[in-house]
Amino acid sequence: MINFTFYTPTRVLFGVGRIKEVGSEIKKSNVKKVLLVAGGGSIKKNGVYDTVIASLQEQGIDWVELWGVVPNPVLSKVMEGISLAKESGVDGVLAVGGGSVIDTAKAIASGIYLDDVWASFLGKEKIKQALPLFVVLTISATGSECNGNFVITNEETKQKLGNHSPLVYPKVSIIDPSVQRTLPWNQTANGACDALSHIMESYFSGGGNETTLYVDEALTKAIIDATDKLMLNEDDLEARANLAWAATLALNGVSAAQLKGDWASHDIEHAISALHPEVAHGAGLAVVFPAWITHVWKENEPTFRRWARNVWDTDDVLTAVERLKSTYKRWGLPISLRELNLEKSEIPAIAQNATQLGKLGTVKELAQEDVEKILEIAY
Ligand code: NAP
Ligand code: FE
Repeated sequence: MINFTFYTPTRVLFGVGRIKEVGSEIKKSNVKKVLLVAGGGSIKKNGVYDTVIASLQEQGIDWVELWGVVPNPVLSKVMEGISLAKESGVDGVLAVGGGSVIDTAKAIASGIYLDDVWASFLGKEKIKQALPLFVVLTISATGSECNGNFVITNEETKQKLGNHSPLVYPKVSIIDPSVQRTLPWNQTANGACDALSHIMESYFSGGGNETTLYVDEALTKAIIDATDKLMLNEDDLEARANLAWAATLALNGVSAAQLKGDWASHDIEHAISALHPEVAHGAGLAVVFPAWITHVWKENEPTFRRWARNVWDTDDVLTAVERLKSTYKRWGLPISLRELNLEKSEIPAIAQNATQLGKLGTVKELAQEDVEKILEIAY
């Protein structure tokens, strides 16, 4: 048995039409003025922005806006947000968007109290305080709406690093699956792959908790089933709702209870998107994860065999990997580095970037040479 702490303080409002409750939820926390953080404009096109603003106005909550968060969000935008938050005297942060927007909002909410926000990503400064964070989610993928994690790219040092604090869990997250109908298909598929990957990062790492393994198998099947249904009909609201809730559960602690966690595939993907910001996180994971399994599965054979049998209906792990890859392919995701338009000659630099702070993973500790082998399999 592995001891663990289960902490999910976020209040979730789930369902169609619930975004209009955002103003009253913020008011309940006694917050008067928020920094509204947003991406490239999808929320203006699909009406989410108008709903949010009407709700803030109705409740008398003031706001300032920070636009332009990009996928694979960057430190310079965090710095801009920290300055704006300080200048405008906000007492809360409202993220309206996906993981990139939420992660930027978490870095701002905590960074406002730090001397150097990037130092906290390097473990050199500790997060001691954060502004209260509210979330209106528009793409289900990262689970950031219900966890304390955030990932930011320092564009100068070309490092994409994760951070964590119990202080940045959103106070409230609103998940209305119907607003995800406007996602381009590749973003829906990227999101599904990210959620599946979060489950696998815990599942394979061992620790032996049967309950969590069964939960993880069920979540995996739910995500695959919902995504297949959405591929046939992107307006299928039930499927959107199933994918959304499974993606939240994939990284709010439920899928990881009593499991060690590995996270090497995420670390390798972060190196890819640090060097190639045009690569979406979910697409990078579709390439890396099957190769990682192929490289490490013999280190924890019973768990990989269990996954092959219970999820993919085969006793052979490599056949299961092929079934995972063909699922990704069916969804239109890339399954090789080549399809991400990367050159083979870039492999050492990616592996070096991934291992710059030390070895990766727990199933097998990966040094730079191991990461190179995985990337060669992925090529
Ligand atoms: P995202 O980067 O937030 O958004 C991807 C794209 O989807 C954006 O171009 C966005 O456009 C668009 N979009 C979002 N909602 C839409 C909608 N309803 N309709 C139309 N377009 C929409 O995607 P994400 O996968 O959620 O976040 C990825 C980031 O999170 C990566 O940096 C990844 O490393 C990180 N991550 C974080 C965690 C965590 O726990 N914190 C876990 C895994 C990954 P607009 O910009 O125009 O809105
Ligand atoms: Fe992820």
